[in-house]
Amino acid sequence: MATDVKSKKDVEEKKEPGWKDLPIGGLIEKPGTSEAYKTGDWRTQRPVWDSEKCINCLICWIYCPDSAVIVEDGKVKGIDLDHCKGCGICAQECPPKCKAYTMVNESEFRGK
Ligand code: SF4
Ligand code: SF4
Repeated sequence: MATDVKSKKDVEEKKEPGWKDLPIGGLIEKPGTSEAYKTGDWRTQRPVWDSEKCINCLICWIYCPDSAVIVEDGKVKGIDLDHCKGCGICAQECPPKCKAYTMVNESEFRGK
């Protein structure tokens, strides 16, 4: 009867990792994996930000679930479109007196 179980000798000869080489279960060895996962591909609408209307209250930065609002030195600099998934929360939460965001269909940027 064939078996996939390898003997200690097989493992040592082929220099395959043994059970002691396996990472501890549930251990995350490399943080920041969500940064590599570009959720911007899902987006059907894009927030277009108007710097002239923005008062830098940073409410959009607090509410954005993807940390896609780029802030430098306490001021909004734009949107990280690799990670913005177009939920529109920033536009919803931006104070009515500012309305610095307009949600625009992605097709207007990418062609139809
Ligand atoms: S649309 Fe959503 S994901 Fe994109 S910047 Fe606004 S709040 Fe963040
Ligand atoms: S919520 Fe609106 S006004 Fe406030 S920082 Fe964001 S874009 Fe600017």
